[in-house]
Amino acid sequence: MSPPRPSLAAAYDPEHFRRLGHQLVDQLADHLARTTRREGPVLPWAPPATNLERFPAAFPEEPSGDFPALLSRVLDASHHLHHPRYVGHQVSAPVPLAALCDFASSLLNNGMAVYEMGPVATAMEHHVVRWMAGVLGLPEGASGVLTSGGSAGNLTALLAARQAKAGYDAWNGGATAGPPLTVLVPETTHYCVSRSVRMMGWGAEGVTPVPVDAHYRLRPEALEEALATAKRAGRRPIAVVASAGSTATGAFDPLEAVADFCEKHGLWFHVDGAHGASAALSPTYRHRVKGIERADSVVWDAHKLMLMPALVTAVLFREGHRSFEAFAQEASYLFHGQDTRRWSDVALRTLECTKEMMALKLYACLSVLGTRLFADAITDTFDRSRRFAERLQASEDFELAVSPDCNIVCFRHTPKGVPSSELDALQVRLRESLVTSGEFYLVQTTLGGRVWLRVTIINPLTTDEDLAAMLDALRGVV
Ligand SMILES: *Cc1c(COP(=O)(O)O)cnc(C)c1O
Repeated sequence: MSPPRPSLAAAYDPEHFRRLGHQLVDQLADHLARTTRREGPVLPWAPPATNLERFPAAFPEEPSGDFPALLSRVLDASHHLHHPRYVGHQVSAPVPLAALCDFASSLLNNGMAVYEMGPVATAMEHHVVRWMAGVLGLPEGASGVLTSGGSAGNLTALLAARQAKAGYDAWNGGATAGPPLTVLVPETTHYCVSRSVRMMGWGAEGVTPVPVDAHYRLRPEALEEALATAKRAGRRPIAVVASAGSTATGAFDPLEAVADFCEKHGLWFHVDGAHGASAALSPTYRHRVKGIERADSVVWDAHKLMLMPALVTAVLFREGHRSFEAFAQEASYLFHGQDTRRWSDVALRTLECTKEMMALKLYACLSVLGTRLFADAITDTFDRSRRFAERLQASEDFELAVSPDCNIVCFRHTPKGVPSSELDALQVRLRESLVTSGEFYLVQTTLGGRVWLRVTIINPLTTDEDLAAMLDALRGVV
């Protein structure tokens, strides 16, 4: 007999876990109640050095036993995304059921690289991914994988696009085994696309920018010129990446026109729908993504508009088998006839080897809460954003950057008497004031060389009154 040491047996003791778990849920539920009642700050702002001091690496050799006290300090010092006055970056206020799923996933730790290490999560992932493809209107046969975020997702899709369209085997031969490649992307594209391209070894000119219009949407009539420019520079264009919701303003590119262009030139059509593909769930707003059903690949973050905690991103392929080509060990053209590759060994198709049971939270929430909840959350936050934009337009002391396509709104405060040369500095100061006071959390962006305040109305508990109060708070900053 060699029983585990008492200290290890205690750390794994189920009864101890039960007590601690109940306490944890109580603490989190109290926290949720407080933040959703708007008690306390949104972000308890403190400089990085303060948090370094608060959470030192003072690890005792023996158990200290005080997890609830530690958790309490974590809750106090963290950013409170469930606070209805959180209107900052595109990160969800997770629906609490999803957090419980992550809890279960962490204990089970079914790593998913191969089927046997995650039998349930693999099956759930298969169905969730196909369900998402169906929501977008992709054909039967569409499929894909879940991965760790939109950045990893866009890289995954572009790797598959390269294998399909480069005309040579860059996976095995490297980036110099054929002519240098490029993808056409709107100027407003997320930085991760240019990062992906650089990681693939195509350099800065691996992205060919396409101008956008006054609404920050890709100008389809500029695509031909961009294509010609790329070719003149000795590049082989293989794809167009359209945004379905750009990051700064939430602008949706004209997907149908981009699809037509890709069809005409034999290019891969990728939609970065990390933020906005969720619009397809809303009967009121699904027209925003019209044309997405013609994409060769789509990236869709569930941890943005689908109320999930980070990270869970779908990479969807119109032809499901393309998803094997992102990390192909053999070139696609070596496969003839029957496809014998195993869909159930997910790591064949993802950047990750081990990954979390990502599908669990999405599958469980869709099953238990129903799909309408998600549609309603999207419709309501988009409606609320539109009303907020109307309020801004009707006011005399705020300027709206563009009418919002989704739940991202950019605006600036333009009080009488402030010269226009000072307006940029004013926005920075206003944001700083609201954020450091903890009253609201909003961000800023630069558009057309000017600074704008930017909100993402992503918490379903945010109300019109919260937004009106934010404008009053901005007016009141001295
Ligand atoms: C958020 C976002 C990304 C990056 O996704 P992560 O999940 O944060 O890695 C990429 N593209 C767009 C359009 C986004 O909104």
